[in-house]
Amino acid sequence: MEPKLIIHGGAGLALSDPQQASIVRASLAKVVTEVRTALEKGLSAVEATVLAVTYLEDDPLFNAGTGSVLQQDGQIRMSAGLMDGAQGHFSAVINVSAVQNPILLARALQDSPDRVLSETGSHYLARELALPPYDPTTLKRLQEWVEQKQTGIAKAAGAVTMGTVGAVALDRQGHLSAATSTGGRGFERNGRVSDSAQPAGNYANRYAAVSCTGIGEDIIDEGAAVRIVVRVTDGLSLSEALEKTMAEARVAGRDYGVIALDSQGSVGWDKNTPILLAAYTSDTEVGFSF
Ligand code: ASP
Repeated sequence: MEPKLIIHGGAGLALSDPQQASIVRASLAKVVTEVRTALEKGLSAVEATVLAVTYLEDDPLFNAGTGSVLQQDGQIRMSAGLMDGAQGHFSAVINVSAVQNPILLARALQDSPDRVLSETGSHYLARELALPPYDPTTLKRLQEWVEQKQTGIAKAAGAVTMGTVGAVALDRQGHLSAATSTGGRGFERNGRVSDSAQPAGNYANRYAAVSCTGIGEDIIDEGAAVRIVVRVTDGLSLSEALEKTMAEARVAGRDYGVIALDSQGSVGWDKNTPILLAAYTSDTEVGFSF
């Protein structure tokens, strides 16, 4: 089976600076190329999505891991979800602080009887795994928070924060996986929980896999990732499932974007935000959604 990979670096308002688009493209292209090569060499879909998300978490351009946005109290609380479509296991960590790669905690929970941990449990898990304490705060995010604190508003009520990351992979065995990691919506109420660590935002089975980005509350209200995956499972093509789901989201006034794959290797993405930062590989070249 020919492996497939699509990744994203968030959805939101159009990038004001055209230079920014080429910086983001270069960053996504590097990750998608490297992980696709690893998939070709036999890396599993789960390990491929974890690897891609780890790279993206380490890139301060994105709102996940290093470079995560701050909640209202000035703390970073990150969330990450991982789903192994072949095994049908969802695992996640919610609102973790002081780790470099939240997705590695989600991976460590894949075969555990307790697969979704909140702040406290995640903290103990990081200790058990001997992950060194890490401060993901960047100066840029700190300055943004100070500005928001002064004006007392999030970037704009309802505006989408750019930069959540996600990856969806199909491996040589035909197994699918989805992984998503985020710092959240930004300047939200302390302890607010993101869709990225819930099946609504990140879901996969043997037929399809989906990672979402955008307003988490909208994604949760729609049950977006599960809705698309179930539609493919019940016989719609991936493009039909995306079209139908996004049309419903538009009618309901929900703002988000999705990346997806099916077990036949069809690659899909869609959005009802001005921009979705996604990159995917065909045989030889990298394609972009922006
Ligand atoms: N979906 C994320 C959240 O609401 C944010 C994003 O995708 O940018 O936490």
